[in-house]
Amino acid sequence: MRCDGSSMLGVYISIPFCRAKCSYCNFASGVFGGDRLERYVERLVAEMHSAQTRAEAWQAILPDRVDTIYFGGGTPSLLHPEQLQKIFRALQENFSVARDTEITLECAPGQLADALLEALPQFGVNRISFGVQSFVDAEAAAVGRLHTGAQTLTDIARLRAAGIENINVDLLAGLPHQTEASWQVSLDQAIASGVPHVSVYMLEVDEDSRLGREMLTGGQRYHARAVPDDAQIADLYLAACERLAAAGIAQYEISNFARSGWESRHNEKYWLRQPYLGLGMDAHSMLHGKDGHPRRVAATDDLTVFLEQGAQHKSTMVDVNASLEEAWFLGLRRNAGLRLAALEMEFGAEGIAAYRPALVACVDDGLMEITGETAHLTAQGRLFSNEVFERFLGVAP
Ligand code: SF4
Repeated sequence: MRCDGSSMLGVYISIPFCRAKCSYCNFASGVFGGDRLERYVERLVAEMHSAQTRAEAWQAILPDRVDTIYFGGGTPSLLHPEQLQKIFRALQENFSVARDTEITLECAPGQLADALLEALPQFGVNRISFGVQSFVDAEAAAVGRLHTGAQTLTDIARLRAAGIENINVDLLAGLPHQTEASWQVSLDQAIASGVPHVSVYMLEVDEDSRLGREMLTGGQRYHARAVPDDAQIADLYLAACERLAAAGIAQYEISNFARSGWESRHNEKYWLRQPYLGLGMDAHSMLHGKDGHPRRVAATDDLTVFLEQGAQHKSTMVDVNASLEEAWFLGLRRNAGLRLAALEMEFGAEGIAAYRPALVACVDDGLMEITGETAHLTAQGRLFSNEVFERFLGVAP
């Protein structure tokens, strides 16, 4: 479980370019011109060439062997094949990429060009994550998404024809105008599409997004008044857990569901505190420190700064107590839970004993279960995970 220098590396590559901005989104992504994307790729390549030097400066261990690569966004499917080729060439020049590496590319339905689709298998891309959010076209359109449910199904078929079976569909519970019945339509379509992986997120509207501002100040443009309330969103989430489980797509993390054997290996690295290197604007890294303390590193979230001055990384050493807190927060996200004996081995019995009262209270409140030596969240605990995590804050001795 613990982050050590012998783990293989996960690489996250941020592509913060989108064709349109969704109303609820306040990520650092945006609609930027093609010339900036070209420049961005050059910067990414330069970042890869200097990764080892930077890791030295952070006193961090950068594993040479890579076994997962994840292109996130934004909309990485906007990359041209030549741009992807430059990125993969730089990866090969600087890392030893394992033969069975899981390589995921996030993709907006309806925005997968034939040329890119043809090139994906050649580059070894073997997993696609579709930002569908809803199969109900009016719901998708209400938040500014450009695709239809039919386009998503067509793209899934195109990918299969190209030999890519490992496909994820993202769904969002809490979109404006969403109802229990319309949510079932999205779940049914996702299941009927036969994809082996589904992610379900509960909409949390950022106050600084256009939808968030409208919810605060009123207006009609972004359908703020049609956003379901928290209780309705919770019900949608629970309905998804049940419906997907009944279809054999088991929950393995708060937001992630997969048929057996199709879990995302890259995301598992985050929850298991294994090392990953983030490249690009607003990308984050977690590497093991040479002094035994993990390093968390964040890059600028300003595209102009990134293009003109580079990632401007900020590195932070994670002390023992913060590491222990992270171990709880990240490990409990997984349905498999956290092995308390492993935690004791890593952090000492005293450190874990301090959490006993919080554990007992969570068990009493039905938020957590302890089975043998493993602590895990109940369905209710996964729904209110933020509340559970708050109880674990500041407990470390
Ligand atoms: S596609 Fe994703 S990153 Fe881009 S605006 Fe929409 S939610 Fe944000």
